[in-house]
Amino acid sequence: MAHIVVLGAGLGGTIMAYEMKDALRAGDTVTVVNKGGTYSFVPSNPWVAVGWRQKEDIEVDLAPVMARRGIAFRPEGAKRLLPQANQIELNDGSVLNYDYLIIATGPELAFDEIEGFGPEANTQSVCQVDHALATRDAFEKLSASGGPAIIGAAQGASCYGPAYEFAFILETALRRRKVRDRVPMTFVTPEPYIGHLGLDGVGDTKSLLESALREKHIKWITNAKVVKVDPATMHVEELNDDGSLKAKHELPFAFSMLLPAFRGVAAIRGIEGLTNPRGFILADKYQRNPAFPNIFSIGVCVAIPPVGKTALPVGVPKTGFMIESMVTATAQNISSLLRGEEPKSVASWNAVCLADFGDSGIAFVAQPQIPPRNVNWSSSGKWVHAAKIGFEKYFLRKIRQGKSETFYEKFALDLLGISKLKDIHEEIT
Ligand SMILES: Cc1cc2nc3c(=O)[nH]c(=O)nc-3n(C[C@H](O)[C@H](O)[C@H](O)COP(=O)(O)OP(=O)(O)OC[C@H]3O[C@@H](n4cnc5c(N)ncnc54)[C@H](O)[C@@H]3O)c2cc1C
Repeated sequence: MAHIVVLGAGLGGTIMAYEMKDALRAGDTVTVVNKGGTYSFVPSNPWVAVGWRQKEDIEVDLAPVMARRGIAFRPEGAKRLLPQANQIELNDGSVLNYDYLIIATGPELAFDEIEGFGPEANTQSVCQVDHALATRDAFEKLSASGGPAIIGAAQGASCYGPAYEFAFILETALRRRKVRDRVPMTFVTPEPYIGHLGLDGVGDTKSLLESALREKHIKWITNAKVVKVDPATMHVEELNDDGSLKAKHELPFAFSMLLPAFRGVAAIRGIEGLTNPRGFILADKYQRNPAFPNIFSIGVCVAIPPVGKTALPVGVPKTGFMIESMVTATAQNISSLLRGEEPKSVASWNAVCLADFGDSGIAFVAQPQIPPRNVNWSSSGKWVHAAKIGFEKYFLRKIRQGKSETFYEKFALDLLGISKLKDIHEEIT
């Protein structure tokens, strides 16, 4: 019988384990390896950072859920993948064998690529819940003493929705405390224009986001390369579209939250044939690695090329709905292989995002990711804030229950008109 290992129990890995378990033959087994025993809902981190959520609200203790589902759970974390031997060396020195491996290790945060950048140095982060807790302390100080705030993303980032989201959430939180007038805000981004989002825009995101930034008195710098961050000054080069220097900025700040570039985690980085130069996993349309055909990958760790040429590196976002489509395709493809058939399920990889502004928000759907598209839709309104809360509740309920999809969730997606976007299709051979 086959042993399937899921490496990483974040947004993708947890539901991957549940869906894989449901797709197995009797006697096949699943093991989940994670760094730590807790699942944390990353999309809620911006709310943690302004005190709208507590850490406990968005965490799930995975061991009891996995045990209930009959899934073995190893919280030691992987030290190194040994794909030639079909083994993973864990951090406690033990070795785990697998027949099929699904890598779902998410991103390593590349703060070290810019001097003075990141929560160990001079800027805040919301990428992990502990970073968001530290950001909350900095937010309290900002509320008390005021001063300029810089929000955005560094060159090479591939996650822009949460950068905009955090700018607007911070703006709302400061306004509610009646101290917004003491905090001049600037949005700094490597995107060639506001609302590019790593997708060359979706629907009307350019005008929607520009207009929202203007309305909230947030200035912006696009094509922005963060060169260095001193304790209270950010050194930024603004480029022209052809990559030449347009202006140099020395931006004073009392508070800054910038998303970093991502790369693959150390345990899987630099394996010939498995990863690209930044450590992202190479996958074909079946989520399968060409060099190691018993290895699949899902989520942020998957290598996806940028949508087009930009002055600075601007990565494609991998959002929750896109990840769910990768999960379903992978479960079906491994299930086919176990039954002696060829894989034929292809994930839609559609980009769907709900970006919360604290009291309203924008939503967009790009299908497919690269223009021209069949669906190229964006919208804004108070409903987005409500939908985002709904998504958080459904997802955490799903993780706690050990189920991969509930009728309720499907119903909600149908209501938003985006149910099709989790669709995968089967190739006719
Ligand atoms: C701040 C922020 C907000 C976001 N908001 C949204 C949103 O609103 N909507 C949306 O659709 N998308 C959002 N995203 C994008 C994306 O959905 C999330 O990043 C999502 O968590 C990615 O899922 P993942 O499973 O690929 O990685 P993760 O959820 O990061 O999970 C990776 C897992 O792998 C584990 N791991 C890492 N290294 C090892 C190792 N060596 N051994 C074992 N385990 C390991 C980690 O501990 C973690 O549990 C957001 C991203 C960020 C950063």
